[in-house]
Amino acid sequence: MADTIFALATARGKAGIAIVRVSGPDALRAAAALGVIDLRPRRAMLRDIFVRGEILDSCIVVFFEEKHSFTGEAVVEFQVHGSEAVVASLLAALGTFPGLRGAKPGEFTRRALENGMLDLTQVEGLADLIDAETEAQRRQAQRVLSGAIGQRAQSWREDLVRAAALIEVTIDFADEDVPVDVTPEVREIVDRLHTAFLVEIDRARVAERIRAGFEVAIIGAPNVGKSSLLNALAGRDVAITSPIPGTTRDIIELRMDLGGIPVTLLDTAGVREAEDPIEKIGVARTMERAATADLRVFLLGPDNALEGDLPGKDVDDLVVFTKSDLSGRSDAISSKTGAGLDRLVEQIKARLEGRVSGSGLLIRERQRAALSQAAEAMANARLCLYAEHPRLELAAADLRAAAHALDMLVGKIGVETLLGEIFSRFCIGK
Ligand code: GDP
Repeated sequence: MADTIFALATARGKAGIAIVRVSGPDALRAAAALGVIDLRPRRAMLRDIFVRGEILDSCIVVFFEEKHSFTGEAVVEFQVHGSEAVVASLLAALGTFPGLRGAKPGEFTRRALENGMLDLTQVEGLADLIDAETEAQRRQAQRVLSGAIGQRAQSWREDLVRAAALIEVTIDFADEDVPVDVTPEVREIVDRLHTAFLVEIDRARVAERIRAGFEVAIIGAPNVGKSSLLNALAGRDVAITSPIPGTTRDIIELRMDLGGIPVTLLDTAGVREAEDPIEKIGVARTMERAATADLRVFLLGPDNALEGDLPGKDVDDLVVFTKSDLSGRSDAISSKTGAGLDRLVEQIKARLEGRVSGSGLLIRERQRAALSQAAEAMANARLCLYAEHPRLELAAADLRAAAHALDMLVGKIGVETLLGEIFSRFCIGK
């Protein structure tokens, strides 16, 4: 039988309330040992808890019965006053009860997975929700946590099973007159699924960006005001500004929440003909990194004119004049006075928002890889189905391979090797 585990579920330190969670077959017995009895499922009850005959705290206790809790086991939650002394005493007392031990990182969630309360994609969604810093990240994680991938995978799987069944009928009756040719129907299903998988894989790139942040590179000649702009946007000094050209030799990254969208601003080395070998490396790195960024903001100084194409500029990229306080240009920005900065932020946001709306379901490389396998199997199935003499039995094998890949996606199989890695990134109490 499983151990009963316990941990502080809320953050450490002083707070109004701290929640200690106990999960496993001995959860109710542990509550009783603290003097808490007559709990009713999913009812908040105000109770005193006692340790060695002495009252420790008055707290709200909630009991969740098996199959109706986060972990799927019996769970008791103690919502005590958020005092470090109360929490320490309670945890120490729980540790002395037979059958109880402190939880390892992510162990509650692991039990939820093992008991079928969450599938693997939901566990990944939960991890992302806990890590979410912006609205876009929260929404995306929430969708995954709600089980959207599992539902989609389930309906895809049903289609695969139907296509396989159609093929089976044909093979079983190969010697007889099969009344209808099933190939067109199988083709229709396989084509549809193939497209659906490819669309979802394509959207995964956006989802990954929402998770990790969109990269926006700030590019321009030395001294044009890149670092000053970054500092002004950040509202604090993060990059070194100086009137000597070429100060920013390496790429400085700044994570920001731009109206709900996670953005990493890259302050790049000034692009110019560099003499200094270290600066040369910096410039080369700038160009590489800027090319792979999601958006580029090209800065031009008061003396620059907009002539010809800027190297590396995409249609969506922004071109902005700096130091409006010196030039007097109404369309320029000034990091010194703050003029035009709000408009610039709005422009960046607007360009990225369009991409956020195309976000799909898959939020992890692991998930993308599993669906790519399924897509590959469908591509192979199509080769068999559209051949001059369709090879139905080979197509059936590909359909099975695709179903297998979908099972990997939701963690029905192949999950063991992943668990350690996934749960080690959870904190204790999750
Ligand atoms: P970078 O090399 O492109 O990163 O340029 P910096 O941000 O280091 O700025 C170079 C110089 O221009 C510094 O002396 C800044 O104080 C100055 N500077 C930057 N932005 C402005 C601005 O909006 N107005 C004025 N007057 N000076 C600025």
